[in-house]
Formats: sequence, structure tokens, C-alpha cells
Amino acid sequence: MATPEDIRRANRGLLLRTLHRDGPLSRADLAKVTGLTRASVSAVVRDLMDDAVVEELGLSTAGGVGKPATLVDVAADGRHVLCVDLSEPARFVGAIVNLAGKVVVRRTYDRKSRTGTSAVTLVRRICRELVADAERPLLGIGVASPGIVDARGVVVTAAHLGWTGVPLGADLASTFGVPVAVINDANAAALAELTFGQTDGGVPSNLICVRVDEGVGAGLVLDGRLFTGSTYAAGEIGHVVVAPDGAPCACGKRGCLETEVSEPLLAGRLEAAAGDGAAVLERAGQHLGTALATVVSALDVADVVLSGSGSVATETFRAAAAAAIAARTMPVLAERLVVRPSTFGFDDVVVGAAARILDQELGIR
Ligand SMILES: [Zn+2]
Repeated sequence: MATPEDIRRANRGLLLRTLHRDGPLSRADLAKVTGLTRASVSAVVRDLMDDAVVEELGLSTAGGVGKPATLVDVAADGRHVLCVDLSEPARFVGAIVNLAGKVVVRRTYDRKSRTGTSAVTLVRRICRELVADAERPLLGIGVASPGIVDARGVVVTAAHLGWTGVPLGADLASTFGVPVAVINDANAAALAELTFGQTDGGVPSNLICVRVDEGVGAGLVLDGRLFTGSTYAAGEIGHVVVAPDGAPCACGKRGCLETEVSEPLLAGRLEAAAGDGAAVLERAGQHLGTALATVVSALDVADVVLSGSGSVATETFRAAAAAAIAARTMPVLAERLVVRPSTFGFDDVVVGAAARILDQELGIR
């Protein structure tokens, strides 16, 4: 049976989601849209204002009879979220993100090839420094890690960081005393699109977000929800074989997608190619598209977002991936296919880590 606290949480989430999508609104409009009574809306808004997550704006200027109503909205800078991105090969990124998904502070930390406990120590240091600098009360800490991360914030496995069964979420929660969420990096990039992204057709409810950094992974948004699979490993496409006669992979197979597409690998090949970089990018894009064609077809998702920096962000790479998917799928799907860069550029992973905290703590999604 629902407790009063469950009901309070549900009503807060309902109002915040409505304001996040359609705000600012008057209390009367909130009641109309949510179906809650005027009295309930007023009480919940007061509660949310006490927590500094909702603020009153000016009076509504919309026409009509009667006195103008006061508008309320999510208070973008009422609370902040501390976010850490562990996905890049050479550096970790720490950021403070506001409730509107805007990065207000960003710092980069040289990773210096740290792995294991040394990498965990660096994550704690990043959090400590950003906690000290935060100018608003923190809503929580969101961390995006490569590899497989379970719902309790345990990094089950992240090969590039040398982590197996690292309870990062519990570790940071006990150190800093705030709510913590740990999420896979590609899932974070997908959540950024889902929570804060806009396309011509509104908020995308089905998309595949492919993150290329030290490895390759995909975040799947299906029917408006992040899909994580039965063991939190949905979208782990890095070890799909795309070149059976290709190079040996750390996993024991040959020609995995990660032996053809990753940020350090492409950077090295581009340097060696001196002058014919386009051929390198086209080949890599083709391999990615080959691996994605089945995923795109099986799920009937035509919105593909590419996340990552350097060569991954080039039009040549995107176009080659799009052409390879189109060549391997039904025309009816290929016609709708869009392969696009992330809405948030290089910030998508930290913005997505913040989105995870907004959902967990406030019900905003
Ligand atoms: Zn492999």
C-alpha cells in the first residue's frame, strides 16, 4: 500500500516532470494538466520551493479575464549536480551541472594511465574539489563509467580502468553524504538526449546513442525509457566481430568492433595515414554501421546519435556509418535513418550523469 511519503514523492515527480517539459506554468494550469486539486498543487509547490527546486517567476502575461496568475518553474540553479565522466582515454572530466542540464563548471584531470584503486582515488579527489567549489546545495553526484554498471552503482567490469566489482556508488555516498548514481557512459549520453534533447518531432522516445571513446558501446532508449537489458549489458556492441580476419582482440577473438573503432586507435591510424585520413574514417564508419545495422533493424529505431570526440565527431565518419547501415537495412527503415552528432557535444556524458540524478532524486525524466 502507498504510504503518505510515496504519495508525496509521486506528486512531486509529477509536478516537476510537467514543469520540466512545459513550464513555466501557473498553479491553476498545473492542476489542469496533472489532474491534482488546486490545494494539492499549492501544497506540493510550497514543498518544492522549500527545497529550492522550484521558484516563482513573474505574473502570467497571457490574456484573459481575472487577475494575472503567478508562474512557477523548475529553479535551474536552485540545486546543482556534481558529475564525473570517466570515459575518455587520457583524462577524467569533473563538472557542476544545473537542473536545466547546463554545465556551469568543467574541469579536466590528466588520467596518467591510472587504473584500479589509483583511478578510484582520482575520482574521490575530483569529487572533493568540486564539492568544495559548489555554490549551490548539491542534489547528488552522478558518475559515468565505461563498462557494465549495475543498478546499485557497482562497476561490474570496466576493462580499460582495470575495475571488476568496484562499489563506486556506495564508496562515494559514504564519503560525501549525498545521493550518488553510477551509470554506463553510453547510457549517460543517451539519457542526456532523452531528458534535455529536442528534435524537430519533440523529445525523442526511441534512439540509439553510440559512444566511441577508449571502447565502443551503445545506450538504448526505447519507448521513452533507458533499456539496460537483463544484466545491465544492453548495447555492449564492442565485441561484435566485424572483420573475421582482423586483428586479435583483448577478449580472445579476432576483428571485434573495438579493434576497428576506438578513439585512440583512430587517432593513431590517422597519424600514420598522413594525407589520406578520409579513407581511415570511411573504413571505421563502415565497420560501425555494419555492427549497427542489425540493432537498428531489430528495434526499428532510425534515430542514431554518435557521441565522442576527435574523428568520431567528423561528418566523414558519420556519413560512412549511415551509408553502411542504409546498405544493410530495408529501404523503409533506411529512408527514415538519421545519424547525427550529440546535441550536447563533448558535454553529453556529464549532462547525462546529471539527468540520472534528476530522475532518481526528483522524478524528472
Ligand atoms: Zn573483442
